[in-house]
Amino acid sequence: MKYFILFGPPGAGKGTQASAMVEQFNLKHISTGALLREEIAAGTELGLKAKALIDAGSLVPDEVVEGMIESQFKTVKGVNGFLLDGFPRTIAQAEALDKMLAKSSEQVTGVVSIMIPDAMIMERIKHRATIEGRADDAKEETINNRIKTYHDKTEPLVGFYQAAGKYNEIDGVGTIEEVRDRIAALMQRF
Ligand code: AMP
Repeated sequence: MKYFILFGPPGAGKGTQASAMVEQFNLKHISTGALLREEIAAGTELGLKAKALIDAGSLVPDEVVEGMIESQFKTVKGVNGFLLDGFPRTIAQAEALDKMLAKSSEQVTGVVSIMIPDAMIMERIKHRATIEGRADDAKEETINNRIKTYHDKTEPLVGFYQAAGKYNEIDGVGTIEEVRDRIAALMQRF
């Protein structure tokens, strides 16, 4: 099985680019943010707890998302691999992922990191808010906290995956098609 990580700051276009990647390689797209939004919509206890954190632009506890990922790995069949979108978001999650995969002698195949400058994050998220209507895209304070959380907790993963020789960076500035083509060219190498 292939295990790809789609990495990047909020608003980089991970969700948008995931669909073409999934089709190209017959992967299952797993977005922890989307799974959490489903829990919120279904009004589950987990969803209720997650909502306050998501609305504040903070991360939900590592164990929660790790459990979601592991259950997807166990239940999803008939694909060549997985495209993890929005996971891992902390070093602890990355270490938990490595341990999870090691249990079945597997490992992360590669990280595809879509990078955009900070100045573009706010603009992209505000544009998405007009299309998707996500609660955590609506408030400037929440967006600012998500950007800070990204720099503090998630960006250290760049070094983590560089050290593992798995980090590949794509310029996320450009049209959806331009970025898609850059990713497709990179994915040919796996
Ligand atoms: P996303 O759709 O990836 O932008 O995620 C939306 C929100 O869900 C994030 O701002 C976090 O509050 C939460 N979330 C998603 N994935 C994770 C994760 N791997 N770890 C912790 N919180 C997460």
